[in-house]
Amino acid sequence: MKKDYIDLHLHTNASDGLFTPSEIVENSLKLGLAAIAITDHDTVDGYMEAARMVDTKVMEVVPGVELSSNYKGADVHILGYYIDHQNPEFVKKILKFRKYRYERGESMVDRLNELGLNLSMDTVKTIAGNSSLGRPHVADALLREEFVQTYDEAFARYLGYHAPAYVPKKVLTAQQAIDLIHLIRGVAVLAHPGTLRHDEFIPDLAEMGLDGIEAFHSQHKRGDITRYKNMARKSGIIYTGGSDCHGPRKGRALIGTQRVPYSVLLKLKKVKESK
Ligand code: AMP
Ligand code: ZN
Ligand code: FE
Ligand code: FE
Repeated sequence: MKKDYIDLHLHTNASDGLFTPSEIVENSLKLGLAAIAITDHDTVDGYMEAARMVDTKVMEVVPGVELSSNYKGADVHILGYYIDHQNPEFVKKILKFRKYRYERGESMVDRLNELGLNLSMDTVKTIAGNSSLGRPHVADALLREEFVQTYDEAFARYLGYHAPAYVPKKVLTAQQAIDLIHLIRGVAVLAHPGTLRHDEFIPDLAEMGLDGIEAFHSQHKRGDITRYKNMARKSGIIYTGGSDCHGPRKGRALIGTQRVPYSVLLKLKKVKESK
């Protein structure tokens, strides 16, 4: 099989994805991907499990993470690639953010209760297990208890940025997120700028040391891909891409659907060499 494509943005059930690390690996191999990156929110457990089961001659597994950060009041997601994922300082930090995520989950359940929805944190806990807790788990719980009819309805009515049960996370500033990734010799990439909708942040973030932006993403239209490739070039940084697969929550899973060429990984590796 010709192996030209990669997917550098995948979530496992160590955070808010539905696939286990082993299912991610299985699917990636089936699709003939040449490389994948596991980029769970605030955890590298999924990466470690996936990496253990793959022969690197068959498929590369890049250590990654997705950190949430704040810049000018916006929820800015920063991906870290080729990170030294066992760095004790980093491990301690992400553990703290997972604790914040749990507390924030409790706050969102409180808000839902105030809104008259009798959802219990136990239901959320049953769904999330030990995973890095996120809004998708709360949405799944709302769906399971039939407070909503669809996963999207949970975000539209309750959990979306401007919805009544949304609680922001305690996060790093964008500068701190970039610095933390650099501290562990990783490559810092702005995730899905198309959903952020603040293109004007890109030159600022590049100034702060950002190494790249995600051009290919499931929520990006063709025009977005071209625009972000051009913006990366203008700022003198690289572009990357991935599906941001969270499993088959809404029908078919997105894994491998972005057709990101292997040449993207070669450029990413070059930046890594400079770290
Ligand atoms: P959190 O990190 O807990 O704020 O959750 C962020 C995750 O929620 C993202 O990675 C998406 O998977 C999901 N998400 C955010 N907004 C929406 C939305 N409007 N519809 C569906 N999923 C969403
Ligand atoms: Zn997610
Ligand atoms: Fe994200
Ligand atoms: Fe993501």
